[in-house]
Formats: sequence, C-alpha cells, structure tokens
Amino acid sequence: NRVSKCKWSKDSKNQVPSCHSKWDWKHESKKILPDILSAVGNTPMVKLNKIPKAEGIECEIYGKCEFLNPAGSIKDRISRRCIEDAENNGSLKPGGTVIEISSGNTGASIAWTCAIKGYRCIIILPDKFSKEKESIIRALGADVVRVPLANPPDSPEGMFGKAHILYNQIPNSVIIDQFSNPANPLMHYDTTAEEIFDQCDGQIDMIVLGCGTGGTLGGISRKFKEISPQTLIIGADPYGSTYAQPDSLNETDVKFIEIEGIGYSELLPPVCDRSMVHKWYKFHDKEALTMARRLIKEEGLLIGTTSGLLVACAVKAIKEFKLGKGKKVVVLLPDGTKNYLSKFVQDQWMEQRGFMPCINTKNLWWWDI
Ligand code: PMP
Repeated sequence: NRVSKCKWSKDSKNQVPSCHSKWDWKHESKKILPDILSAVGNTPMVKLNKIPKAEGIECEIYGKCEFLNPAGSIKDRISRRCIEDAENNGSLKPGGTVIEISSGNTGASIAWTCAIKGYRCIIILPDKFSKEKESIIRALGADVVRVPLANPPDSPEGMFGKAHILYNQIPNSVIIDQFSNPANPLMHYDTTAEEIFDQCDGQIDMIVLGCGTGGTLGGISRKFKEISPQTLIIGADPYGSTYAQPDSLNETDVKFIEIEGIGYSELLPPVCDRSMVHKWYKFHDKEALTMARRLIKEEGLLIGTTSGLLVACAVKAIKEFKLGKGKKVVVLLPDGTKNYLSKFVQDQWMEQRGFMPCINTKNLWWWDI
C-alpha cells in the first residue's frame, strides 16, 4: 500500500495510533480563507422542531449539518486529510493520479480536492449510485469508471479489482482506500467528534451513527468513549446490510438497498470498529426515505438518504431508551438532497416503489382538486 503506513488498531481501545498528528483545523476559520479546502468542517448543529413534536418526543434532537461542507458531504473531511497524508508520506507526488472506490460522496470530495490541488483523479463508482454524483465528479475533471455492484469486489470488473488494475497500469498513482486508511476514522476523531462535543457544551446523551466504511462510527465513538463515556452510541443499518450486531438482526429477504452510503454486505471494512456501539437498529428503505422527505419538507433540511435513516433511528431509539426533557441527541446529516434529484426527491419515484401514497391530498392546492 503506497498510502497508509500505520494501522487504526482495534486492540488499543483508548490509544490513538502512533502516526496520529493533530490537524490544526480550529485555526483555519479566518475571515478570508486561502482556498475552498479550508472551508471544510465546523458545520452547523441545528435543532429539529416539528418532527420531534409530531413524534411526541420531549428531548432535543440536533442535526449536524455535514451536507453543508463545500463539496456536499461529510466526506470532505477525510478527503483532504487522506490526500495530504499521501503527499506528506511521499506516496503522492506532483503530476500523480489519485484513484478511489466510492459510493459517490468520497468520490466527489476526492475529485474536488484533486481539482484544487491539481492531481488527475479516477473514481470507481458502482452502478447503483446516483447519476447526479457521477455528474459532479466528472464536472470536477475526474474520470468515472462504473462497475456492477453485484460483481465480486476483487474480480477484474469488481470495484477493488478495477482499482488495482488501474493502479498497476498508471505510474505515480495511489489508491486512497477509505476502507482501510487510518486517516478516515482519525479525521472524525479529531474534528467531527470534538465539534459535536463543543457545540453541545459537553452534554450529549445519545449519538446516532451509520456505517459505510465505518470511519465516522469508529472515529466518533472512540473519541466519545474518552471524553463522554456515558453517551449512548446507537448504530443504524439498513435491511440488506450485515453490519448490525448481533448477526440475528440482519436476517432478511431484502436484496437491494436504495439508501446510498451506509450498509453493505461484503466483509467489514478494516477501519470499522463497532465495539463501542451500545445498540443497533435496522431500517427498511421506506422508513428511511419517508423520513428524509419529512426532514426536507417539515424542517427545511436539504438532506440525503442516510440522514433520513439516521433520524428515523433516533426517533425509535429515543422512545425505546425513554429519553425525556433535557436530554440531548445528536444525529449526523451526512449528505444533501441534490445528490438524489432523479431519485427519492421525486414523488413519482417514491410512488413507484410504494414509499408514498399516490395522491397526498394535503399537498394539493385548491385549483388541483
Ligand atoms: N452517509 C452517506 C451519504 C455517505 O456517503 C457515507 C459514506 N459512504 C456515510 C453516510 C457513512 O460514512 P462512513 O464511510 O464514515 O461510514
């Protein structure tokens, strides 16, 4: 591996890896930023109002607006860090090519970082993921190679196999490999978790996280174990994925997941440390995507599919753990609505999948009737 020299160890529970170098992100919030890369992070934390009320929930639910990062998702945080680590350890040199496998958001963020820094970029994007994400990646000047998600990942036409073929063919290339790159969880350990802690003045009773690579889950839960061990860590996983524990939770007939970015059924990524999760919950596309539509319409939060799943999970977990007045719950809102304009944002798309009543009379104006 030309990128990572150190491991995100699962054994040393309270130890950060020895390669850990703290990124001085707090000092980057100056009036005029040197470039758009410096605008990553320090995202707003926003109180949800109508949804908790409608659900009869009395505790506070806060959404961490990661969709407001400059390239549109939580993945902006790790992209800069991974590329700068590769520059610093000499694996990425001027004129080099960056290759990454992604469900779209990391691809867009890596392509964006490469556009700013002047590297060639190739993103391996499985066919399931939205064409909006592909368009953004291409507009940033990167090449996109689509592979069938159903192909065995290590086969020549699978996502990892394809990346390695390109890596061997292209001189001066690196694979970022968010699935095993320790910079992925470390960035959340250093920035996302600390921002959440500061924004809530150190009182967080529950935090709800999903798992794609597991970088967010591993990094945030590790930091919270150190600074706020009483915080309940809740894991949210779609049916059709096998990341939840115990394994019996994952039993299902579901073969395809519409939600993009969390939940897979291949081997657990090396950066994913689930040992700090107190409880997992499973969700169907319908519950997640109807909640995503409610977040847009009722709270004005222009979020994507996983945000819907995470808020649906928060609602369920708050009720089950009986969190009442004065308690604070944080939910990540990882990406934004514009990634899905051809998908769940459209009533017709939702109706075709049985996710929405065909005619919602509440939404009709008098002249439609
Ligand atoms: N939500 C969305 C929309 C994502 O794209 C991702 C990353 N695949 C995640 C959540 C999960 O993040 P992580 O890879 O850190 O587990």
